[in-house]
Amino acid sequence: SLEGNRGNPRWKPPFPGVEGLWKAPTVVNNVETLANVPFIIKNGAEAFKAHGTPQSTGTKVYTILGDVTYPGLCEVDMGTPLRTIINEYAGGMKKGFRFKAALVGGAAGVLLPERLLDVNMDFASLNEYAAVLGSGAILVLNEHQSIVDLLWSILRFFRHESCGKCSACRNGCQQLYELITKIKKGEGTMEDVDLMLTIADTMFATSFCALGQSPVMPVRSAIENFGDEFQEITKR
Ligand code: SF4
Repeated sequence: SLEGNRGNPRWKPPFPGVEGLWKAPTVVNNVETLANVPFIIKNGAEAFKAHGTPQSTGTKVYTILGDVTYPGLCEVDMGTPLRTIINEYAGGMKKGFRFKAALVGGAAGVLLPERLLDVNMDFASLNEYAAVLGSGAILVLNEHQSIVDLLWSILRFFRHESCGKCSACRNGCQQLYELITKIKKGEGTMEDVDLMLTIADTMFATSFCALGQSPVMPVRSAIENFGDEFQEITKR
């Protein structure tokens, strides 16, 4: 859309570094990445690599939201445990609430339960749990929040964001939204839950761009890590 046309995903390769805006080589990095460059030029790569882990060097900025005492931004070394980020940098849970889950990585992220709170927040460690740092957003939920409601909200977002170019994502987002709406109303079955996994996996394998490949992360982690909630609501 910067070029004045409808904003459509392009086939890659060529990647933007080779052919991007106006078909010229284009740097596409987020501000966080570019903000690291002055430090590295000024202090050297070794100073940057002194932070983080051998595979994930440097620091990471997180946006912490939800039921924590101090929502906001923090910058910590790569590899800092999720528990430390929540307790030391966000002041822990809001008074009177218990931790239930953290959606790590934004809407296209993974829902982590309490037993995974000690995961180190770096690429390799999160990869072991099929999780990603993603946008760096961490949404913390208390024990009263519904995972089904959160997943409904996420899938409504994806349905809205799908550009409609490819049928896997266009139809898949709509079907996922219809299924989670049915489940949220207490009218769904465990077959519907299984069907959601099949649709999300199919979207991952066949969608044209990352948006259509993303719903599998929240869908699979919600169902696998909080399966009891889906069993409970489909029994009603
Ligand atoms: S995956 Fe979704 S957002 Fe991406 S091109 Fe296909 S329809 Fe559009």
